[in-house]
Amino acid sequence: MNDPEFPTQRAVPQFTAEPAHASELTNIPWIDVHNHAHTLSWDDREKLALSGCEASIMIGAAYYWAPYRPVRAEDVRSLWDEALARTRPIERSHLFEVKLGLGVHTWSRVENVEKLLASLPGYLELDVVAAVGEIGVTKSQHVHEWELDAQRDVITEQMRIAEEYDTPVILHTPPTLNEESVIGSRMPVYEVDLELLQEPVLNEAGTSLQGTKIDVECARAAGLPEEKVVVSHADPTITEYVMESTDCYLSFTVGYPWLTGVTAADVADAVETYGPDRIMIDTDCAGVIKSDPFAIKRSIFELHRRGIDTDDIRKVVYENPREVFF
Ligand SMILES: [Zn+2]
Repeated sequence: MNDPEFPTQRAVPQFTAEPAHASELTNIPWIDVHNHAHTLSWDDREKLALSGCEASIMIGAAYYWAPYRPVRAEDVRSLWDEALARTRPIERSHLFEVKLGLGVHTWSRVENVEKLLASLPGYLELDVVAAVGEIGVTKSQHVHEWELDAQRDVITEQMRIAEEYDTPVILHTPPTLNEESVIGSRMPVYEVDLELLQEPVLNEAGTSLQGTKIDVECARAAGLPEEKVVVSHADPTITEYVMESTDCYLSFTVGYPWLTGVTAADVADAVETYGPDRIMIDTDCAGVIKSDPFAIKRSIFELHRRGIDTDDIRKVVYENPREVFF
C-alpha cells in the first residue's frame, strides 16, 4: 500500500522527508599527528591536502632510509636536517602546516648515540619542532641489534630532554603484526628487507602491551608528564592499559590496516568506551610502506557511520592534536 505521505507506487521505507547527510563532515579539518610526508610522492602529499589535512606532524626519525650500516649519529642527523629543510617547501606546495617530530628511533642501533642526544636540544629550540619522536622500545632491530636496557636508556634520556623543553613525545608502539601475511608474502608492499631483522629483544607474548608499559616506565623515570605522551600505533591490545592506567593520549595508526588490522572500528570502540578526550588518529604514511593518505578522511566517515557524534569526531581528529602539539 502507498505511504500517504509520498507519491510513490508502493511503500519506500528507506526514504525519509528529512535529509540524512552530514555536510559538516565533508569539510571537517584534521591533523595527522604521525606521518613521514617528506618521503611521500608529491601526489600522495596532495591527497593529504585534498582530503582536509590542515596540519601534520612529520616524523624525521626515519633512519631506515640511511644508506650506511652501522648507523652513526651523523646519518640520523642528516635525516633530521633533510626533514627540516623540506618543511617550508611542503607547506608552500601543499598548503597544510608542517611541524616536525625528531628523535632517535631504536629500530637499528645507532653508534655514538650520545652525540645525537647532545644535538637534540638545539633542534627543540625551533618552533617548527613540535615533538620528540617517534621513539620507543622496538621488538627487534634491523641489521644491528640494540639490547633492551640500552634502548631504555636512550628513550629515557630523550624523554628527560623533552620534559626540559616542554615538548610532547610521540611513541612508536611495537605493532602487533600479522606475521603470516607480512613475512610470508615477502613484503611486496614494504621496502625493508625483513630477512635482516635481528633476534627479538622483547620475547613475551603481547609485544605491543609489553613495549607500551616499558615506554611509560621510561616516561615516569624521566619525570615527563603523561599528558605529554602520545602513544602511536595503538591497537586494541593496549587500549585498556593506556586509558585506565595512564594519562597518555592514544593514537590509532589507520594508514596500513593490511599490516596491523587497525581501522576506524577500533577508534570507534575506544571512543564509545572511554570518550574522545584522549584519543587521536594518525596515518604513519611513508614512502617505505604501502599506506593510505586518505586514511583519516575515510576514518572520519566511518566513525560517523558507526554512530560517533560529530563533536567527538572533531575532538579526535582536530582538537586533541591542536591542544597537544600547536
Ligand atoms: Zn612512523
